[in-house]
Amino acid sequence: MYGQGLIKGLRITLKHFFEKKITQQYPEERPNLPERFKGSLTLNVPKCIACGLCSNACPNHVIKIESQKDENNKKKLTGYKVMLERCLFCGFCVEACPTKALEWTKEFELTKFYREDVNLDLFKGYVPSPDDDKPAKPENEDTAQAS
Ligand code: SF4
Ligand code: SF4
Repeated sequence: MYGQGLIKGLRITLKHFFEKKITQQYPEERPNLPERFKGSLTLNVPKCIACGLCSNACPNHVIKIESQKDENNKKKLTGYKVMLERCLFCGFCVEACPTKALEWTKEFELTKFYREDVNLDLFKGYVPSPDDDKPAKPENEDTAQAS
């Protein structure tokens, strides 16, 4: 029948016209992101034991860790850089971290004017405190105690 496609199209338009609106008025309204959303990465420096598991787990060699040994022969983190421009957002690094020092944030506005600003220095700006010497507990230790 002539015009059948037009009628079909209009029917779909009308159906959506009376449905509940789902468009979010970003940026005026902030999006309600899912719990497991992978935005940017953040590092809780005192919890990091400089084990390098995150760096080893990364398939794209995105994470560069610097560390040195203290007077007790214990590794101390001295630098932590993430070349976010090469990140696949796969999450292997976060999963590999035994102390949950490395986590995802819900920050999704990651565009920058200069390319070099895309990369993250997660150690920069960190100020050591006396509490840092408390040993970080591996996450599965809690689980083991609970069971
Ligand atoms: S999310 Fe994947 S690609 Fe990105 S830093 Fe972590 S392991 Fe590497
Ligand atoms: S895996 Fe976790 S604790 Fe180990 S170096 Fe990476 S962020 Fe630090």
